Amino acid sequence: MQNWNAFGSEKGRFYRGNLHNHTTRSDGAFTPEENTARFARAGYDFVAITDHRIYYRGAQEMNGLLVLPGMEADVNRSQPQQCHHLVCIGTSGQGFAHDERYNALPGEYTGPADVQPVIDNLKARDNFVILAHPFWSHTNYSDYGSFTGLDAMEVFNTGCLQEDDTGYSHMAWSEMLYKGHRIWAVATDDNHRDNDMGGGWVQVFAKELSQSAILNALRAGHFYASCGPDIHAMYVEDGRLIVECSSCLRVQVLDQRIGGHTTYELPGGEPVRRVVHPLQEGLKYVRVQCVDAAYKMAWSQPLFLD
Ligand SMILES: [Zn+2]
Ligand SMILES: [Zn+2]
Repeated sequence: MQNWNAFGSEKGRFYRGNLHNHTTRSDGAFTPEENTARFARAGYDFVAITDHRIYYRGAQEMNGLLVLPGMEADVNRSQPQQCHHLVCIGTSGQGFAHDERYNALPGEYTGPADVQPVIDNLKARDNFVILAHPFWSHTNYSDYGSFTGLDAMEVFNTGCLQEDDTGYSHMAWSEMLYKGHRIWAVATDDNHRDNDMGGGWVQVFAKELSQSAILNALRAGHFYASCGPDIHAMYVEDGRLIVECSSCLRVQVLDQRIGGHTTYELPGGEPVRRVVHPLQEGLKYVRVQCVDAAYKMAWSQPLFLD
């Protein structure tokens, strides 16, 4: 087992961001200016503006935040009622134009084969593509397990948690992993108003706060998703996985097997801040889940071992 660092080998730091964000450009309550001011006050470094069916590629900086270009595309069907929402994040290079409207499918889709060309099109137009809120969309593995090209999947969505308790989807992501997909996890707000901001975010390790550096780090998986805990470091040294985090009730190292987990806890609920985990041979991947005393979670990306 080679030495490895979850956040890459370049010098840099973590930048906190929201990758799924609505404004008055679609059905959000706040203008981009108001919205970014709120995230700036909450200590964020960047946001993507991802309104429904309209691409944002306006100002790159607003209220001291880096703004990433983006959009949320959707495809729908009525029988059985279901949809797929695809959050896409770009850079200021090629791809969609500012204010470009995108009706991904003019009619209804009938099955996964109708949706794949939409993903292909978003990817071809230089976007990082996230499968959003699978449970809210009434979808499961049989609906999206054949998709290729997805960069990430939401493991947490604040708006869906508040709307109908479909906010957590890390089990759906876990299923994607143990069935062989290589896909990253993101936590987002999908915020539309003021009561759904700051519940889930990503911490991206990048060399600088620029669109290209953040996108490159997202594509490389040099980030983690969180609703609370911080993962300060995660690396492999001499065949052992080392995780350093904020005070947590438990830290779990999970792999692809049924029951494939090691749970690190301390007697009396003493906080866990560092885990040293010997890596076994023959695993496809390991990933780390941190849970704090308020039962807020953070999810590392998988370290693929095969
Ligand atoms: Zn959506
Ligand atoms: Zn949304």
